[in-house]
Amino acid sequence: MAGSFSSQILDEIRSRLDMAELVGQSVNLKRAGENWKGLCPFHTEKTPSFTVNPKRGIFHCFGCGVGGDAFGFLMRQDRLAFPEAVRALAQRAGVELPTQRSPETDGKLEGLRRVMALAAQFYTDALWAKEGAKAQAYIESRGVDLEVARRFGLGYAPDGWNALLSHMAKEGVTDAELVSAGLALPRQNAPGFYDRFRGRLLFPIRDLQARVVAFGGRAMGAEEPKYLNSPETPLYVKGQMLYALDVAREGMRQKNRAVVVEGYLDCLMAHQHGFIETVAALGTAFTAAQLSLLRRYADEVVSVFDADAAGQKATSRLEEMLTDVMDLRNLGWSVSRTGSFEKTGYFPIKVAVLPEGHDPDSLLRAEGAPALQSRLDAARSILDFVLERALGEEDLTTPRGRSTAHARVALILSRVPNAEEATALAREAARKLGVDATQLWIEAQQLQGARSRKTTAAPAGPSGSAQAWPPPSLSEHDLLLMLLHMEEARIGLLPYLEEVHIAHPGLRAILGALRRAPEGMAPEALMAELPGEAERSLLAALLLDQREWTDIHIQVTELQKRYDIRRRKQRIRELSLAITQAQSTGDPAVASLQAELRNLQDLAQAVRGMVTGR
Ligand SMILES: [Zn+2]
Repeated sequence: MAGSFSSQILDEIRSRLDMAELVGQSVNLKRAGENWKGLCPFHTEKTPSFTVNPKRGIFHCFGCGVGGDAFGFLMRQDRLAFPEAVRALAQRAGVELPTQRSPETDGKLEGLRRVMALAAQFYTDALWAKEGAKAQAYIESRGVDLEVARRFGLGYAPDGWNALLSHMAKEGVTDAELVSAGLALPRQNAPGFYDRFRGRLLFPIRDLQARVVAFGGRAMGAEEPKYLNSPETPLYVKGQMLYALDVAREGMRQKNRAVVVEGYLDCLMAHQHGFIETVAALGTAFTAAQLSLLRRYADEVVSVFDADAAGQKATSRLEEMLTDVMDLRNLGWSVSRTGSFEKTGYFPIKVAVLPEGHDPDSLLRAEGAPALQSRLDAARSILDFVLERALGEEDLTTPRGRSTAHARVALILSRVPNAEEATALAREAARKLGVDATQLWIEAQQLQGARSRKTTAAPAGPSGSAQAWPPPSLSEHDLLLMLLHMEEARIGLLPYLEEVHIAHPGLRAILGALRRAPEGMAPEALMAELPGEAERSLLAALLLDQREWTDIHIQVTELQKRYDIRRRKQRIRELSLAITQAQSTGDPAVASLQAELRNLQDLAQAVRGMVTGR
């Protein structure tokens, strides 16, 4: 996972950080010998099994099995991607990152960013120039302050087929680059290209560094489609970004709340009316990735729905959203950023429903900020909302309707991570259904149990849960322990060991990383060389396993012989096969192969004699 960062730089960052201090910011740690212990921030527990070893710069939870180094901790805690975690920790440690990391990828991304920046400038200039008069008038007719339009970097794509293409040609941008940036398309029946956005008002979608990565284009008349968006590019992955997050994140921090609306104009108008914590979801589905982005800045997320949308469709979408969030919860989602445990399982999403016939934009224009404010104040827990809808959609006067509603409610309740909230909801639902709350609660528990069994039984890929692997066999486990803790074992044994000698996939990956590591590298530095979280967790567990090693020299010599014999046997098998083949084809090489085989067999005999003492 080291990606584009060199292992030296990662090592440097790791060695300058105090892991106990880093973890201690969010977890209450107590000293326990060489280690520090506390309650695991990634699963709910009452007795501390979360262990930090500052000397090695690693953490490991003996309860849920997660572990890793400082980068892994921050990735999990703040839900960062690896490069983001590296940048954050580099800054903390005062280590300067080299600007040129991977010239190939960086070059490509940088090239795309340059194209997007140039295009954004072109569109903005067009909006505020004479040719943009129509678009400016449109903005004003929608009640958007021109100052707000400027702050959000709005632009105008001129009419015609090649306004952008010909402008960019002057900037030295090729047609192919414009196509890969999603700004131009090849003509259908003729050679050449044409602009994707024509005669539209453009909303630039920016990343957290406020760099433009995509555009949303709105028609100003009756043209179809009403909204035309950039396609996915290496810079823009749908479902991973939120419109205006770069502008709104400070507001979210201030208000400790994020408001999610659907449209660009809704979002602009919300900001204009002081709801500076507002973002737009960029598409119909609100994804877990987007939620986790918001959770970095606020503890509460309010999703705003139009009344007309809050019917059958919205309910099923919310039920999906619940499932999505529940998946996240398995990754430690439910722990607040400050690491407080009271909130474990707290469900952060609320739903605000607007009056009939309104979206946020029209509501704000018609009735002003207080109208939206009161709807936000009245926002209810998503669970509460979904439950009520589920009950409302069934005909509770018939036995069939009641039993369907009962089943749906039990299913929803089974997804509620917080017992208190679930109990309260079960009581309310039971009253409406005219059934016993305890019965409903028990059914929900059974469903929850069934689901968690299913989850743990799922096969784990390299990045799956460490616990999904069968426990390694003791001898393999001890061999890796010895290699990791004793330099003498590494020097003596690594030349004899191959990955095929190890059956356990996690241990095999660690051995591979050890074999590739330069001599003298600290074993904890292997963290960055491992492919997935499961491997890193396993490595952390091994590194924390402190043992007294006696007679290390004797053990190493014994193992050396054993692996040497194994290697020779393998060579003997290969040679025998080669000889059979050479004999069948009459290859003259057969004689020399046979000589080597005899030689090997003699040696093997002698070594075996030494090992067994015969
Ligand atoms: Zn844990």
